[in-house]
Amino acid sequence: MTTLPPMTGFWQQLRKPLELELTRGCPDTAIVGKSIGEYTRLWAERLRDGREEETRLALSLARGLRDYATMPVAERRRRVIAAIDMLRRQEEGQRVQIPKNKPAPRKRAATAAPRRNKAKDEVTALPTGAELLATALEELAPRAAWPKLLANKLGIYTARDLLYHIPRDWIDIQLIADLLDGSRAAIVATVVSRESSTLKAKQLPHPLHKYILTARDDSGEAWITSIIMEPRQQRGKTSWSPARLQFTPGQRVFALGKVDRTGKIVDLHMEDIFGLTAAEEEELRPGGRVPLYPLTQGVYQNQVHRMVLRLLNALDSGVEAGALADPLPADIREQYALQPLAQALNELHHPRDDLQHEQARKRLAFEEFLTPQLILARRRWAFHHDQHAPVFHAHEHLPELIGKLVPFAPTLAQLRVMAEIEEDLRRPRVMNRLLQGDVGSGKTLVAAGALALAARSDFQAAIMAPTEILAEQLFLVLSRLLKPLNIEPALLTGSVTNAERRTVLAGLALGTIPIAVGTHALIQEGVEFANLGLVIIDEQHRFGVLQRATLRGKGKTPNALVMTATPIPRTLSLTAYGDLDLSVLDELPPGRHPVETRWMSSHDMEEAYAYIREQVATGRQAYVLCPLVEESEMLQADAAVDMAATLRQVFPQYTVGLLHGRLRPEEKDAAMEDFRAGKTQILACTTVIEVGVDVPNATVMLIHNAERFGLSQLHQLRGRVGRSEHQSACLLVTHPRYNPDAIEGEEPPARRRLRLFRESQDGFQIAEADLELRGPGEYLGTRQSGLTDFSIGSLLRDGKYLEQARKAAETIIAEDPDLAAPHHAELRRRVAILAKQLEKFRE
Ligand code: ADP
Ligand code: MG
Repeated sequence: MTTLPPMTGFWQQLRKPLELELTRGCPDTAIVGKSIGEYTRLWAERLRDGREEETRLALSLARGLRDYATMPVAERRRRVIAAIDMLRRQEEGQRVQIPKNKPAPRKRAATAAPRRNKAKDEVTALPTGAELLATALEELAPRAAWPKLLANKLGIYTARDLLYHIPRDWIDIQLIADLLDGSRAAIVATVVSRESSTLKAKQLPHPLHKYILTARDDSGEAWITSIIMEPRQQRGKTSWSPARLQFTPGQRVFALGKVDRTGKIVDLHMEDIFGLTAAEEEELRPGGRVPLYPLTQGVYQNQVHRMVLRLLNALDSGVEAGALADPLPADIREQYALQPLAQALNELHHPRDDLQHEQARKRLAFEEFLTPQLILARRRWAFHHDQHAPVFHAHEHLPELIGKLVPFAPTLAQLRVMAEIEEDLRRPRVMNRLLQGDVGSGKTLVAAGALALAARSDFQAAIMAPTEILAEQLFLVLSRLLKPLNIEPALLTGSVTNAERRTVLAGLALGTIPIAVGTHALIQEGVEFANLGLVIIDEQHRFGVLQRATLRGKGKTPNALVMTATPIPRTLSLTAYGDLDLSVLDELPPGRHPVETRWMSSHDMEEAYAYIREQVATGRQAYVLCPLVEESEMLQADAAVDMAATLRQVFPQYTVGLLHGRLRPEEKDAAMEDFRAGKTQILACTTVIEVGVDVPNATVMLIHNAERFGLSQLHQLRGRVGRSEHQSACLLVTHPRYNPDAIEGEEPPARRRLRLFRESQDGFQIAEADLELRGPGEYLGTRQSGLTDFSIGSLLRDGKYLEQARKAAETIIAEDPDLAAPHHAELRRRVAILAKQLEKFRE
């Protein structure tokens, strides 16, 4: 026997690479030349002669990571997190409980009818408490197929995942005498006899088998029937199936199905059946209810339900043994009237009524929301304690400066938002503010004011847009706006020439250039500023929380203002942007008319052209967005060129401009500039004009293939017009299949989207609808996923719980910023895990 190294260091040898792997996003590269699975196995082999407990832990880890190389990333992540968790506990000297006594393989007897009966003897001893929650279902039911199906199809890997899987419905357990014809119900009964018959027919590829169990309870007798088609020769070779009703007289069963009742004869068409263990006999009685889970093909309700029952029992004993730590501290539970964890889980699956169920759901949703909120609250806390921000000292106030920039008066909303921003900028506490405002609400003016305030306070400022074309556009707009104050911004994007670039870089480093406009590469490329005081990100919700942290990472904690072009539903801004203070521009400049939104079939182009002709004749201008080619930017450019040619034929008397992504930057500039100056009346373009483009004289936005765009994108596009006192129109042109007037039949999602869009101008309403249609992940892009993926909490329905969780997080962090208190230990653990997971979104 080899001498064992000091064990703590030994465990670390595995934990370190696993942590590295997790940080990298689980690409299976942490070990050079080996898969994590292989490494863990080799490593476990070294422990073969170790102490029994340690050997078991090692084997358990190896088993969990065995198929790592072929797992989907999400599963890899879960497994690595679970493994790290176990290893940490081991290192901290806590006992890690591994399921003991692997059950002996079942003997395959030829006529083993009541095999299922033995299930209770095979039940493995479960760990209790927190270990249980982290245990993989595959380990708990090692030979069953269903854990794999749940993992692959539904992303349910661990006991925790399963316990947080909400039943979609419940079914009453009834007495046989009470079963109603046509209902779906469950019974608990004793088997009296079993019969079967076989039907062979020429038309059928295989014989049909009909099985009938006669079963009885205190109130009466029922048949439980099942019909399946099965190739004869395979019988006995296939795995046990409830459909064969292999139960013996005297056996207690639970059965669920559709009731067919004629007088006293009750026929229950079996959907699920199993033999009861003693524990289940206690749980499942007439008058009770059983949950039905949203499952996947090949998984029976009873397999999941019984596992849930086992888990809940183990959890209860975990509570008794003090092994289950409730992540929510008692005072928070009390303040927000939240149930203890074990109770909530019990009631989630076996609620006494709807109210109970909602109480349980609330508790668990709150808990899910709390972890990311703690991370966000900690970030706000850090910002608020950072008193080293540049203090702006310009003697003019923001509204005064604005007064020098534009002839019109700011809206009340602009004034309010400017006051909020100015207050932040004039004190040493660092500003981290999100400016939300609907398209056209005048965010750029507010940004220009803030930039001017920076320059007048002798600080440099940087403003970043998500794309080059927008950066260029922003640069033009800001140069013009800031001219009256003699403030000259500089443009820095990937496409400025090297010589210009050198000049700008030198100017920024020396402090002679007050304002830099660019893409986010501006900050990422290690550009040096002499005295950076303010960073503005016009981000169109494209960057994640931690990415923003990187963007700001330059300079000495400059103040930051994040602007979003699309309104974000409040629940999302509380999560994805929950680290920022919020300012809202909820008012459009005066004199704006809602944009008239028309929806027409591509067969009616003449009607659309007539409208454009009419508008251009009165001096207005039109955007025509070309049909979408998603495969390649080159094909898209071709489509734009083709469409420009068509438009030139249709409108020989007008000048048609062309703008697409494949043009050189100076060509793009020229196309935009010609349109802005009115030299071109019609602009054939691609979605490069999606955001930020501002030509008030344009009053028509024609969108081909409108059915292919998402709501928020349509809203952005429509926002390009309606920017002046002239009445504007947005023409949605769709394939005739989406005929706007059809009302028959089921509505395809695209039609529903367009109808919603035609009926609403309110960006917030559209954003809510978009969120509902697409779900948070899609809506925000995958970058935010760690912050917005919840299994129980819903960002659509549970805004109230989210707000509460945010408040609670605030309280907790104010008292204990590092979650160092013992009663915050479980929260600290969860926060650490989530933070790690988010880490990979940083770059
Ligand atoms: P956003 O960036 O919020 O979509 P912009 O800043 O591009 O909106 O503003 C849209 C248009 O409204 C611009 O032409 C701008 O000059 C104009 N505008 C902004 N504020 C006002 C105001 N208070 N009164 C009149 N027009 C305004
Ligand atoms: Mg804008």
